Amino acid sequence: MRKKIAIIGSGIAGLTLANLLYKNKNHEFTVYEKNESLSLDEGYGIQMSVNSVKILNQIGFQKIDINKRFHPAGVDFYNIQNKKICDLDLIQFNTKDYKYTTLLRSSLIEFLKDDIYTQHIRFGKRIKEVSELKGKVLIKFDDNTNDLVDMVVGADGIFSNTRSFFEKKKNKPIFKNAVAIRAILNSNSGLNLDETRISLMMGKNCHLVFYPINKNKDLNFVCIVRVKKYNPDNIKSLVDKVVSQNSILEEVFKKDLKSWPLYATSKIIPSSNSRVFYIGDAFNGFLPTLAQGAGQSIESAYELFNLMDEEKNIIQSKYFEKRLMKVKIVRRRSNLNFFAFHFSSKIMQSLRNLIMKFLLKRKGFINSYLGSVYKS
Ligand SMILES: Cc1cc2nc3c(=O)[nH]c(=O)nc-3n(C[C@H](O)[C@H](O)[C@H](O)COP(=O)(O)OP(=O)(O)OC[C@H]3O[C@@H](n4cnc5c(N)ncnc54)[C@H](O)[C@@H]3O)c2cc1C
Repeated sequence: MRKKIAIIGSGIAGLTLANLLYKNKNHEFTVYEKNESLSLDEGYGIQMSVNSVKILNQIGFQKIDINKRFHPAGVDFYNIQNKKICDLDLIQFNTKDYKYTTLLRSSLIEFLKDDIYTQHIRFGKRIKEVSELKGKVLIKFDDNTNDLVDMVVGADGIFSNTRSFFEKKKNKPIFKNAVAIRAILNSNSGLNLDETRISLMMGKNCHLVFYPINKNKDLNFVCIVRVKKYNPDNIKSLVDKVVSQNSILEEVFKKDLKSWPLYATSKIIPSSNSRVFYIGDAFNGFLPTLAQGAGQSIESAYELFNLMDEEKNIIQSKYFEKRLMKVKIVRRRSNLNFFAFHFSSKIMQSLRNLIMKFLLKRKGFINSYLGSVYKS
């Protein structure tokens, strides 16, 4: 049966689902976004592992301008003094058709908006009220428009407002006592890094990641620092803590810096309404230490899309069951990485480095640690 679907939120999750529905044409859909436009000026990068690239290829991702993306061959791990510890080969997960990809988030959004922008996205829309009517959901927006739909998909991020209309149980995201500081560097970081690869430097209570985002080799830089409280006016003190561990890093932090507090979803709770679904960060928000937030947004959209033609009671249980399994895997690994990347004790750091050197050479370990995540 042809369904009418309201997608709330035009981030990576909402736009991916919209594109899959657009290509398939079996269902009617509209994306409702609270902002007045898409955020295309956000100058930061995103890593897409093969699980998400494989899905995006189904909607034409391979056609994105070759100059606007990059395929790093691996990850180099360093200590904060820039001394290499070990490396990870990413090519082993690639195939001819899908490869580990890095790009600007804005390039991805630009691509995702192309086919659906004029016909299917409505801006400046916030839900005011919801009710059930004739077996459907009536959504009233605060600009006094409304829509009567068969399915509502909450794709409105980690602080999902959609949840507050449909769920009694709260699932408040938790501040993870960490802040991300980001910048785009032009070509050269000034550090001794192979800038065609992803470089990850681990320091005391912090780690830094550099990776190329296009053929010009502009570098995305992100530094995660542990801190009890987020104060956007006091980023300088966090930067000082990092730079005190290696003064060469001072140059890197001279760029235009942006900062974000890091939150993660506390519990994995299913939707209590058979017509309402959550995808992306609205389903579960992760720490960025496995670079899987966007990947999981894409995967969750794809999983839901594949169930669309089934009976509504079945969709909910099948969707949640599959998503739960994957989220648990990704969450465990993101949390473990977060823990291991930030040791402050020298003994723990040395022990971690030895373990990493040992494990990253083991194919069996890599296949179970990353292979299970990169499988979609
Ligand atoms: C520092 C950092 C680095 C990261 N790096 C990576 C990476 O390398 N690789 C990766 O895969 N992931 C990464 N992520 C995670 C990734 O960016 C997110 O997980 C992903 O963007 C989530 O997409 P989403 O569509 O679910 O939510 P969002 O991107 O949050 O989009 C939600 C959309 O809904 C809209 N909205 C919100 N409320 C409402 C409302 N009430 N009504 C209507 N619309 C609403 C918002 O305006 C927005 O457009 C990183 C995250 C951080 C913080």
